[in-house]
Amino acid sequence: MKGKMKAVVKYTEATGFDYVDVDIPAIGANDVLIKVKGTTICGSDIHAYHSAPGILDMMSLPVVLGHETCGDVVEVGSCVTSVKVGDVISPEPHIYCGHCYYCQNDAALNCLDLGLFGLDRNGAFAEYASLPENVCWKHPAGTSYELGAIHEPLGVAMHGVMSGEINGKSVAIFGCGPIGLFAVGAAQTFGATRVFALEVAPKRLEMARKLFPDITVINPKEQDPVKIITEATGGLGADVAIELSGSAAALKQTFKVIRREGRVSLVGVVSGAIEIEVHKDIVLKEARVNGVFGREIWRSWWQVRQMLDTGKFDPLPIITHRFPLKDYAEAIELAASGEAGKVLLYPEA
Ligand SMILES: [Zn+2]
Ligand SMILES: [Zn+2]
Repeated sequence: MKGKMKAVVKYTEATGFDYVDVDIPAIGANDVLIKVKGTTICGSDIHAYHSAPGILDMMSLPVVLGHETCGDVVEVGSCVTSVKVGDVISPEPHIYCGHCYYCQNDAALNCLDLGLFGLDRNGAFAEYASLPENVCWKHPAGTSYELGAIHEPLGVAMHGVMSGEINGKSVAIFGCGPIGLFAVGAAQTFGATRVFALEVAPKRLEMARKLFPDITVINPKEQDPVKIITEATGGLGADVAIELSGSAAALKQTFKVIRREGRVSLVGVVSGAIEIEVHKDIVLKEARVNGVFGREIWRSWWQVRQMLDTGKFDPLPIITHRFPLKDYAEAIELAASGEAGKVLLYPEA
């Protein structure tokens, strides 16, 4: 498809983006062109906006931002067989090579030649986006574009929750931003018996309490989470702790709230070095610790579908704000403020 489109682009390492006219992306033989219907703002988009340390190394400028998206397929390359015009798809933004050690060992998320849709290649803060066929996730008929757009962050939460046993377990979830709230829903759907959710921002505390009336919501500024969780678990501690807040203090506390042989899964982006009492918190406890980056391809996506199919958890209320693409700056500011859930950008055309 030839022509111009509106897009949010980062041109230089200076703070900010630009809202500009660019060419509609050309597609290759193995690519798909989508008409973008909505794209939610990720923490990485906020970091990219502010040119935060670390993020620029992952980017190739200039680039169209945005990766949590959903749209209609409007054109397919000559070799594409599994996707057709009219399908509603979301991209797995980790564009994997399919040929390296990890891709061939059921771990494409750790691909050695990973391309990042919306960071090192053009993404979906735009009217159209092109992506390879092999990263298209086809939604079943009736899936709304907004629900489609949040499959990617739902998958991150899912990978964190499902990177160990969850059925019948007690779980402490650190951080009630959108991914934290998604993780609460995923943990409950897949059988966690007791969920504790920790958060300090008033708006997010309120959302956690409202969306999940049967969990224990803790504000660590006012209450001692270690005491509450230890007492509530018969003096043992939680089976699982998942860190999604990106706070160093929270990360340290995950090791204090788990029981012996408990699991700590680290998802949130905590920059810099952190001191942990390794012997006391990990060795003597025989704790298991794992990092979580992105989604398991495609296991996490299937788990998200299975979760949604149960009807037990509706993640849509976690999208709290919607802005036209041109108001991206205001939207990013709001998303960064802790005063919102997921914030969605939509192209007006
Ligand atoms: Zn994301
Ligand atoms: Zn690979």
